[in-house]
Amino acid sequence: MALQSIIVSLQQSKKTDKTRFDLHFAVNSNVSLRDGFLSRDQVIRINAQSQEQIQLLQVLGTRQQEEELDFWLHPVSTELPVDIRVPRSSLTFVKEYLHIHGIPYSVMINDLQELLDEEKAEMEMNQMKERSTRSFNFGAYHPLETIYSWMDTLVAKNPNLVTKQEIGKSYEGRPMYVLKFSTGGNKRPAIWIDTGIHSREWVSQATGVWTANKIATDYGTDPSLTSLLSTMDIYLLILANPDGYAYTHNKDRMWRKTRSKNPGSQCMGVDPNRNWDADFAGPGASKDPCSESYHGPSVHSEMEVLNVVNLIKNHGNIKSFISVHAYSQLLLYPYGYCCRNIDDQVELEAVGQAAVQKLTSLYGTRYKVGSICNTIYPASGSSIDWSYDLGIKYSYAFELRDTGRYGFILPANQIIPTASETWLALKHIMEHVRDHPY
Ligand SMILES: [Zn+2]
Repeated sequence: MALQSIIVSLQQSKKTDKTRFDLHFAVNSNVSLRDGFLSRDQVIRINAQSQEQIQLLQVLGTRQQEEELDFWLHPVSTELPVDIRVPRSSLTFVKEYLHIHGIPYSVMINDLQELLDEEKAEMEMNQMKERSTRSFNFGAYHPLETIYSWMDTLVAKNPNLVTKQEIGKSYEGRPMYVLKFSTGGNKRPAIWIDTGIHSREWVSQATGVWTANKIATDYGTDPSLTSLLSTMDIYLLILANPDGYAYTHNKDRMWRKTRSKNPGSQCMGVDPNRNWDADFAGPGASKDPCSESYHGPSVHSEMEVLNVVNLIKNHGNIKSFISVHAYSQLLLYPYGYCCRNIDDQVELEAVGQAAVQKLTSLYGTRYKVGSICNTIYPASGSSIDWSYDLGIKYSYAFELRDTGRYGFILPANQIIPTASETWLALKHIMEHVRDHPY
């Protein structure tokens, strides 16, 4: 390995000490190195075989910070896989740990950087194409500014249906825009949909954009949607975490949280889906500002969360609250903060199952349905628990594609298929809400 590339590797690495150690290890064990090798993360998939292995993986989780591990999917049950993004410098440690304990694993993404490079190149190509054709490609990922200016185009094209409302500013001062689809009336019963509260879940925001366009396009031609909009409004917040989203484009594609400063800590950001007033700081949320699931200093401390809370409360007539995440292919309902059945469990389960059946009918994509706590893990302070406890019965969260081949780096050619199938589920839920007033 040329000296120059070793220097490049060292410069690219975040943790120089660890890199030196690893470099030493790699050279001594005759592992061949290539440029940038040391800074390239892998994503490892583990299918735990027993409860004991789940516990061992949770123990590994306590090394999260030292080893810079990023749990894409946390160890909760043998039913669900565990995905961990591991920096090169920690690979030996993690693989040895798994080996010693007899925990089988596979490499899901061999070189994350390769995928990120492809994604970036594709975005740049698309940007050039969009500029020359003066069109917007729904099958591509876009930066915040492009989405915001596209919203203006949508409003301009559909002045009698779509308006854009600023609901407040983000921590870093970016405006937060909600698209309102309405054919008139005052505070009609309404559906709330938000996408992108976790910024790295890009297919979520892209699905939001596609969905906004779909509503505007199908209004007047799709009888079901048209009848829905004759009595109800739809609110759609595409960039629920604008600072985080800008950060995923400009600095760190894997950023999940808000970008607020945490006094007394080097680590930035709060998990905006642990910050709601629903058993705040309870199970499944961390008090450590460095954690990906840090609940924040207080209830609704995040401007991005508070802005939504204010809108929903001031409106007072929201009948369904739907929050869209990725990935895992799940349709979830409350609660996350405890595993107790909600009063409307039977109905929400049935509506969820029927919605998923519609989704699957398009491309065969399979979803699981259930409460957050029973399906993934206890998670306090989440938005749909808050909305449910506020009295919004039809509270759901989607985890979109995929089940782990690409995880958060879902290729752009899956955006339109994902959004199209999700639309069928969304429509089913919305129709049920329309037909079951309360
Ligand atoms: Zn999420």
